[in-house]
Amino acid sequence: MSKKQGITVKKEENFSEWFTQIIQKCELADLRYNVKGFLVFQPWSVLVMEKMYKYFEEALQKKAHKPYWFPTVIPESNLKKESSHIKGFTPEVFWITHGGKKKFEEKLALRPTSETAFYSMFSLWIRSHNDLPLKTYQRANVFRYETKATRPFLRSREFHWIETHCAHATEKDAMQQVKEDMNTTKEVMHDIFGVPFIFFERPSWDKFPGAARTFAADALNPDGKIIQQPSTHIISQKFSKAFNVKFKDKDEKEKPAWMTCYGPAISRIFASVVIVHGDDKGLKFPWKIAPLQVIIIPIDKKVNKKAETLKKQIQKFASVEIDYTDKRPGEKFNHWEMKGIPLRIDLGLKDLKKKKITLYRRDLDKKEIINEKDLIKTMKKISKEFTNNLIKKADKVFDDRIKDVKNIKEIKAAIKEGAIARCNFCSVEKKGEKCAEIIEKDLGAEVRGTRLDEKQKPSGKCVVCEKKANQVVYIAKSY
Ligand SMILES: [Zn+2]
Repeated sequence: MSKKQGITVKKEENFSEWFTQIIQKCELADLRYNVKGFLVFQPWSVLVMEKMYKYFEEALQKKAHKPYWFPTVIPESNLKKESSHIKGFTPEVFWITHGGKKKFEEKLALRPTSETAFYSMFSLWIRSHNDLPLKTYQRANVFRYETKATRPFLRSREFHWIETHCAHATEKDAMQQVKEDMNTTKEVMHDIFGVPFIFFERPSWDKFPGAARTFAADALNPDGKIIQQPSTHIISQKFSKAFNVKFKDKDEKEKPAWMTCYGPAISRIFASVVIVHGDDKGLKFPWKIAPLQVIIIPIDKKVNKKAETLKKQIQKFASVEIDYTDKRPGEKFNHWEMKGIPLRIDLGLKDLKKKKITLYRRDLDKKEIINEKDLIKTMKKISKEFTNNLIKKADKVFDDRIKDVKNIKEIKAAIKEGAIARCNFCSVEKKGEKCAEIIEKDLGAEVRGTRLDEKQKPSGKCVVCEKKANQVVYIAKSY
């Protein structure tokens, strides 16, 4: 691989171009499909996203969520049942109006999200408190006619996600579910995929359309912009009333259920995996979700037999391939480093004569020459520490980006250097919206919300209006 074929810009210097090159040169997606805002996901991303789905679904099933497959189409009357939901989503809905030549009496929406599909069935399924909690999920693709500029994996008009929909007897149970969703996000997105984030409760003016409370995980890009990752919501009871999702409680009284929903967008989380771990050489994948974990490079034809023997041994604990292409070894090294393979074995005749093997590990980007007899043992050990090394590095980058600020000038400086500003703020209820608007107008940044996981004590005055501060909020730019 010549220099030109590799990544030619630095991630920290020109993040946008870096991301574009990664997508094209590592063959993650082909953007040439002839419908705007839609793209073709290629094997190198699909293999990873399949694994990401698996880990999320396993975690959900362990927590008693049951899988469903709902229709892709939702009748307009369902979407219209709850007014704030339809108001929020209408500008983004793709409509099906015809079947063949026949015009439908009622338009069908390509699901932008499926609350109104699930709830229409919940009203048939839920009768008594014994039916609760009802915990469902589906893996699905959803469609949104995004009007902002689309960006592969980050914002496209079709994306791939998991949506969970639950019904509970009490608000307390619903809040418990929100906390469980936050834990699931940590267990999977952070501990397996290595993506650091903070879960915020969004301010009242920034809730999901139809939600009573919205909580969302914010991850960070090197350009200082936030990417919203999974969000979880306590849905307003207007919904259960509109959809007639009621149950007979222990006291024989009929009550509306409390609904929650949670949505990890796999294709978007994939973007964060790429962005957080990738470097100037290319991709880096955490061990468990790497599309391929080990590549063997025979430097000489005479070692092919040895390569095959090793492959059989390695297959017992990792996915492995041998690169028999006729590229020069240096080209092969660069290629697989760019592709983000965790471990590479450079199999040379000289080494083998000395009973040695060269191992390249992408977590630390270093070569280790080891005794042939220790190879398998060493590889197993590295596979266990590999992801932790990526996580440690990612966490540090993330934590270093949080800056405490005292006034607008300091917020401005923090945002300019790509940080998340933490400050005292008057209110995340309606009366604080004016201050948030000033921040948005003057700095192009948003109040992301308040933290639930750490109790933070506000002191002094709001950074904008100088009234008494009641909250500690985080401010950043976002996609
Ligand atoms: Zn204020």
